[in-house]
Amino acid sequence: MAKNQEKKKLELWGRATDATVITIALTLGLFAFAPFWAAYLWASCTYYQCSITTGPIVDFFNVVQNFQDEIVSSTNGGLIEMIGAGVYKIFTDVVLADREALCVYLCWLVYNFAMYLYFPVRKIGLGQSTPAGHVLKYRINGLYVWIATHVVYIAGSVLSNEAYGLDYICVHWGGFLVATNIVGLALSLFVYMKAHIAPSHPEDRKFSGSKIYDYCMGIELNPRIGQWFDFKLVFNGRPGIVAWTLINFSFGAAQYKQLGYVTNAMVLLNILHAIYVVDFFYFEDWYLRTIDIAHDHFGYYLAWGDCVWLPFTYTLQSFYIFRNPVDLSTPYFILILSIGLVGYYIFRNANNQKDIVRKTNGRCLIFGKPPTFIRAEYRTADGKPHKSILLTCGFWGLSRHFNYVGDLLMCFAFGASCASFDFIPFYYLFYMTVLLVHRISRDNDRCRLKYGVYWDEYCRRVPYKLIPYVY
Ligand code: NDP
Repeated sequence: MAKNQEKKKLELWGRATDATVITIALTLGLFAFAPFWAAYLWASCTYYQCSITTGPIVDFFNVVQNFQDEIVSSTNGGLIEMIGAGVYKIFTDVVLADREALCVYLCWLVYNFAMYLYFPVRKIGLGQSTPAGHVLKYRINGLYVWIATHVVYIAGSVLSNEAYGLDYICVHWGGFLVATNIVGLALSLFVYMKAHIAPSHPEDRKFSGSKIYDYCMGIELNPRIGQWFDFKLVFNGRPGIVAWTLINFSFGAAQYKQLGYVTNAMVLLNILHAIYVVDFFYFEDWYLRTIDIAHDHFGYYLAWGDCVWLPFTYTLQSFYIFRNPVDLSTPYFILILSIGLVGYYIFRNANNQKDIVRKTNGRCLIFGKPPTFIRAEYRTADGKPHKSILLTCGFWGLSRHFNYVGDLLMCFAFGASCASFDFIPFYYLFYMTVLLVHRISRDNDRCRLKYGVYWDEYCRRVPYKLIPYVY
């Protein structure tokens, strides 16, 4: 009995292993809907000035209706024949509609893989111990790659005499939507099969009993090819995030072509997003010990999300400002920049405090004072005991996820840069709030199972989850 409980404890480290019918249905519904939603947001900005109301919905049904009519009229009405014609039409009209974007995206992926594997490293980073007790090594060179890529993108455009413009990404944005979806779907299928056929660390896999849930949420914790090619770090942290600032920049260049100047709203958004992205690469080693890398399994959720969701929804505000240019007053500009910087200060310092206290084994200063913390113990699947630290002071004494408050303040500043109350500017804030609040509950369950009484003690000492005295 006790043994079973211990096994259950270890199983639940990453994500839930018992998926209920409702969880499976919700997961499937959400993830099947996500590609349409991403396409819908793209269409609303491309054709409707980023208005998500009736226009795109009517268009969507018209496109589906026309598609259906064309298929029916080109066949004799047999089901198999119609499916064949439909697949052929999707292939020619959608997949190959912008072959150039498809080729460029595939080259972009190969470039990112090569840079991760062969570009000089700042250091070799160590991940968090997995439930099975593996501590993996990662090549930390994201900052160098980010700088080199931006130099190449700008220099390439200038040297080619604008044969390809700085607005290249914006011009081919629809083609990239198709390309990223193809890769995202293919990748999630690939990792699902790999988890069964050639898992990297079999003991760190999770099976829920539902193929659908496993496909969506992932089976392998750290799928790899060879010693270094780590799917999670490469896809979570490279093609989409390096591209994030390039995409913004490209919308800025497109705006320059359109208006003859770049609005200060676009400049502000580019600055705020760049702070977030450069921080990510500067502190790439820290990222190895966040939930994304340390606990989430790699399935459709991350594979498709990294390829499509991240580049298309995280950059929506620059698309919005491109389609709805606005000049901000100087006081408003300063106010939003300040909110973004305060958010960044909290975000970065909270994350650093957690990292430094563990790295120094508590021998550090937090806000100028020796830290207070709980020395917690946990076990890995091999039964070995380990020690860890749960910080109870600094930002981690205010609430159990005060780092999220900083992130959400930054998200607010991103939205407010657009100076509009439309849905799309604040969509990212809304999405991040849902994601982070859900993550708080996931993380709470996981940490309770991992640390047991130590976690209960931490919750007693730090009762608030996110905002002190509120939640
Ligand atoms: P955290 O960095 O808050 O990590 C939570 C983990 O830290 C816990 O699972 C536990 O892991 C450990 N921990 C919890 N409490 C303490 C404590 N008191 N002292 C020391 N360690 C503790 O979560 P995330 O990985 O979700 O977030 C990292 C950052 O990334 C955040 O700032 C967040 O805002 C941001 N983020 C951004 C996203 C985006 O898409 N832009 C998405 C998600 C997050 P253990 O003990 O097992 O090591």
